[in-house]
Parts: sequence; C-alpha cells; structure tokens
Amino acid sequence: MKKIKPKELIDGCLELVGEILFEFIFLAIGAVIIILLSAIGINIDTDSMDGEMVSVIGFFALIVILFLVAFAVIAIKKLKSGSQNTKSPKKATKYINKKGKSMYRIGIDLGGTNIAAAIVNEEFKIVKKKSVPTGAERETKYIMDDMAELCRSVCAEAGISFEEIDAIGIASPGVANHTDGVIEYANNLPFRRFEICRELGERLGLNNIHVENDANAAAWGEAIAGAARGTRNSVMITLGTGVGGGVIIDGKVFSGFNYAGAELGHVVIERDGRPCSCGRRGCWEAYSSATALIKMTSEKLAECEESGRHTLMTEIAREKGKVSGVTAFKAHALGDEAAREVIDTYIGYLATGLVNMINIFQPEVLSIGGGISGEGRKLIDMMIDQIKSEQYGTDFVENTRVVIAELGNDAGIIGAAFLGI
Ligand SMILES: [Zn+2]
Repeated sequence: MKKIKPKELIDGCLELVGEILFEFIFLAIGAVIIILLSAIGINIDTDSMDGEMVSVIGFFALIVILFLVAFAVIAIKKLKSGSQNTKSPKKATKYINKKGKSMYRIGIDLGGTNIAAAIVNEEFKIVKKKSVPTGAERETKYIMDDMAELCRSVCAEAGISFEEIDAIGIASPGVANHTDGVIEYANNLPFRRFEICRELGERLGLNNIHVENDANAAAWGEAIAGAARGTRNSVMITLGTGVGGGVIIDGKVFSGFNYAGAELGHVVIERDGRPCSCGRRGCWEAYSSATALIKMTSEKLAECEESGRHTLMTEIAREKGKVSGVTAFKAHALGDEAAREVIDTYIGYLATGLVNMINIFQPEVLSIGGGISGEGRKLIDMMIDQIKSEQYGTDFVENTRVVIAELGNDAGIIGAAFLGI
C-alpha cells in the first residue's frame, strides 16, 4: 500500500472540506432562491431537479447578488461625491499637511510697489505679515534675494523656525503658469517667462512652492476660508483700480489652457464704449471699477458745475480733498439727486456684468471684494432686483448667492499660502 505523506493528507482533507462547503453553500442559496420564488408566486417544478441543479441555481444567484452589491456600492459613492457640489457652507476646516502634522505656510503678495509675505496657520489665519519695497526697476535676481530674505525674516519675527514652513505660494499680477511655476508675464515687474518657484526654492532649500495670478489666488482664498468656503464652484470679483476676477470650478482654480483666463473685467458690456486699459473699448472694467466710478462722479460734478446744479458731492469731495469711490455713495445716502444718477448708472453696469458671470458659470457663491465692496450689504441690496430679474433660470434652478467677500485685502495672501493643497 502506498504510504500517504502528511502534506497530501492535509491537501486532500482541505479539498474535501472545500467541496462540501461550496456544494452546501450553493445548494443552500439555490434552495433559498427556489423558496423565495415560490413565495412570490413563481412555482418551479422541483421534482425533476437534482441537488446539482439546485447548486447551479445557487451559483448563478450568488454571482447576481455580488454584482448587485458592487453596483450599489459604486452608486452610493457617486451620489456622495455628487452631493459635495451642493453642500451648504461650513466653517473653514483645519488644514493638516500630508504628513499629518499641522504646520505653517507662507503666502506672498508680489506687487509692483511692495512684496508682502505672511505666515498663515492651519486655520487659515495670518500669524505674522511683513512687507518690503519691490524695487521693480532692478534685475530679477535682486528682487528674488529680497523675497527669500523676507520669508526668513517674517519667520524670525514670528518666532517660528523656517523648518516649520510646509509650503510657499506666490500671488503675482499678470499671467502665472501654476503647472510649471513660471511667471509668463507680470505688469509693472521685470519677470518674463521667469521660473519663480525654482528661483525661490533654490534660495530657501524648499520644494513645495507655487505661483498663481493674484486675482485667482484671492478667489481661492475666499473659496477655502472666506465667503465661498464649503463650496466647490465660486466666482470672486474685485472692484478696485480695475475689475479683477477669479473662478473656482469643481474645487480648482480655473485659468484657461494658457493660464491667462478668468480676466472677467475685460468682457465688453458696451460695444464701442469707454476705452479700457487693455486697449479694447466698453470693457466691464471701464464701467465698474473704482476708477470708473471716480470718473463718472467727476463727470457729473463737472456737469453740475456747468449748469449751476447743486450737489452734495461737491462738498464731500472738497472735504476729503479729492473725488473718491465713496463720494457718490455718501451723497446718495444723504438723498442727493445728482449722486443718485451716478449710482444708478454705476449699479446698472455692475449688475449687468454680474449677471453675465452668473449666466456663464452659475457659481454657488459670487463674492465681491475690493474697495467698492466696503459699501457692504447695501451694495448687494441695490443690485439684487436687477440680478434676479435678468439672470437665466431664476425660477427653475437654485440661485447663486451674491455676497460681499470676507477676507478683505488678505484674500490673495491666504489663497496663495494654500495653493497646491
Ligand atoms: Zn479691457
């Protein structure tokens, strides 16, 4: 008689147990299926069936069950990710880096006059901010040396070791290629196709450095920690010297294939209208920037003076020594008729541009920042009827919330600090 080795004995036992178990499981499932089918009125002729046939039914039933479970899991996952787009605003959540440690980040606001750097903590709050003159007339290497030194000194002044800095983000005017870390072009600065992330990284011995257009960075700041926090689709408009714009689509900064997109102030709202700084005529910026409002106010003042019409705007401007973006708003609040005409015109153009943005992007939140946003809620109240009556789909879809931005001048620096997350 052949001697059976222990290993063969174990293998044989396992095979037998497996066969019994599988046959029992398939048989049991098959039997349950047959019972369930008869319970709902589908009678199967079990007399002509043997155990093997019931097992085959059980086998196929198990495959169908597994398929249905997998389908349900995928469907639930899809539903969950889809619902993120419509979730209501929430408090800014803490940022914890990939290593699981909470660290600091630096946001840099690169301007034509000053470079500002701020340390931002994991709750999106500025811990320390410092700025130096840009000296934009100098060669780029000197500007970069100053920028690197600014990063080190802001840490020193905050009592934070540079090793605690997780990442740095730069908000730059002009066209910033965030994929390559390159400033393609920056108005009033000597950077042309300049590898700013590499240049700063070499000086500081840090790899995690990002760059973005300043208006886009501000929109990102509002999206992660400001008026649009908790949303995945938002637009921010900045009403200052110009009309800046930033668009967040599905949780990402949108800047077009060449990084020059989202120049929302340079869409025409009046063909052959007022000249714009970009060379075009009739841009939204030429009607809705603070600069445009000052121009409209000055024109109305000149008109009043010429016709001998009294307006409170004259006294307000004289008191402040100049016409500003608040001159017409102040006089309007005091019931001045000429100021009302200026504000009506200004608000009409502003609302027209905002409706254009809503109709293109349908963002969950459209926030308004920049100097003019200092007028606060009443600015929105003045426009809301026009926006509601003109925007597409008012009665059929959930409407965009038009709000005042929350982070003020810090939006860009906070957004920059949290680029690349
Ligand atoms: Zn323009």
